[in-house]
Amino acid sequence: MTDTIFGKIARGEIECPKVYEDDRSVAFRDINPQAPVHILIVPKASIETVRQIDREPGIMDHLFAVANKIAEQEGLAEQGYRLVVNMGPAGGQSVYHLHVHLLGGRAMTWPPG
Ligand code: AMP
Repeated sequence: MTDTIFGKIARGEIECPKVYEDDRSVAFRDINPQAPVHILIVPKASIETVRQIDREPGIMDHLFAVANKIAEQEGLAEQGYRLVVNMGPAGGQSVYHLHVHLLGGRAMTWPPG
């Protein structure tokens, strides 16, 4: 199991207000939001990075479907939003339990920093 803060939240070992939960994932607001809406969608399965998704077949489909559902709930569907997965040190990953960032509520720029 990934012994990270997200693993503990996903397993219910640490209390955290959730915006969504199902049998395969949880979602909660980022502690250091980079946009008016910044939500993390996290698999319950122990997966360190996006390079290990073969461990849980279909998990990215699931996480992206959940992200779309939450974006709808947050009123972002019309204006658009950004889904981000950081991988490894150069990719800016700081928590080694797979997660998808849902960012919205402002215009995003490109390229990202
Ligand atoms: P990443 O850099 O892609 O690994 O993203 C990790 C994200 O987790 C960062 O945006 C952090 O602000 C966020 N974060 C770290 N600890 C917590 C926590 N306890 N609750 C919510 N978000 C967190």
